[in-house]
Amino acid sequence: MGDDVHNVIIIGSGPAGYTAGLYAARAMLDPLMFAGYMSGGQLMLTSDVENFPGYPSGIGGPEMMIHMREQAERFGLEVQDKNVERVDFSERPFGIWVEGDEYRAESVIICTGAEAIWLGVEGEEAQKGRGISTCATCDGAFFRDQEVIVVGGGDSAMEEATFLTRFASKVTIIHRREGFRASKVMYERAANHPKIDIVTHRQIKRWLSDENGLSGAIIEDPRDGSEQEIACSGAFIAIGHKPMTGFLDGEVAMDESGYILHTEHTMTSIPGVFAAGDVVDKRYRQAITAAGMGCQAAMDVEKWLEDQH
Ligand code: NAP
Repeated sequence: MGDDVHNVIIIGSGPAGYTAGLYAARAMLDPLMFAGYMSGGQLMLTSDVENFPGYPSGIGGPEMMIHMREQAERFGLEVQDKNVERVDFSERPFGIWVEGDEYRAESVIICTGAEAIWLGVEGEEAQKGRGISTCATCDGAFFRDQEVIVVGGGDSAMEEATFLTRFASKVTIIHRREGFRASKVMYERAANHPKIDIVTHRQIKRWLSDENGLSGAIIEDPRDGSEQEIACSGAFIAIGHKPMTGFLDGEVAMDESGYILHTEHTMTSIPGVFAAGDVVDKRYRQAITAAGMGCQAAMDVEKWLEDQH
């Protein structure tokens, strides 16, 4: 265990974490961040971000995260690219275990975000990370001149499908109902693309594979249970995300889906433990809203620490 008790430890490194780090560093709190082995969060898996104010021509997700990190580090945020294994919030200073070492902090900001959900249907496990992926930016280039499908009807599905047209010969979006959650602009960009087909009222019943890997899927019409086969050599699942709160082992109050609940402003059920970004937010889930909440959390920490003395 390090001798020091840190003023604030930030767990997670998406827009919420880096913004919290920036504000906490500028407030002279000497923040320490555990960014995770895969620092940067979901923006690292995003191609172009066109809706973050200040970038009139858009910016690549990874590039934006590098900028955010550099900006926070310039003011003194210390970042370690390590995963937090467990926490003990039962007494102060709080305990945080990282690669077997224990760290202590007066306050904590949890910004661990969310991760992609899988369908969990037959045949999926064997093809995970091979023919079936949750990240077109990461794996799209493996499917050059091949037919792929994208499952989902939200902005992620539209974005993944549009991105995949760079490589694939044909992209079929499979969505389980008629209406789309996707924003109009992103839906239309996908719907009007000559390489993209949209199939509604269908869900994946099971994946099919042969000696070359994924070969297709049995899709079912939920209205009458009728089935048909669709061929594809790649599939991308874009059906939403779940919060990354498993390592907390129930130490702070969460809702039934595992999203952390705020009590007062950005504070959790444990005084001194704060949370920001997608780990609490299942409504907006935008880079800009996460960054805004990270700012709020750092300001709440500053005020809370002041009140303790
Ligand atoms: P989402 O909006 O929650 O959409 C998830 C989609 O998956 C829905 O169409 C849902 O169908 C479908 N779905 C869920 N479970 C399913 C299942 N078991 N089987 C089949 N389909 C299933 O999630 P998202 O698209 O990841 O977007 C999340 C947030 O990020 C949104 O706020 C979005 O605006 C934002 N986002 C923004 C951008 C951007 O602006 N560049 C890009 C990506 C995401 P139902 O509609 O029937 O429930």
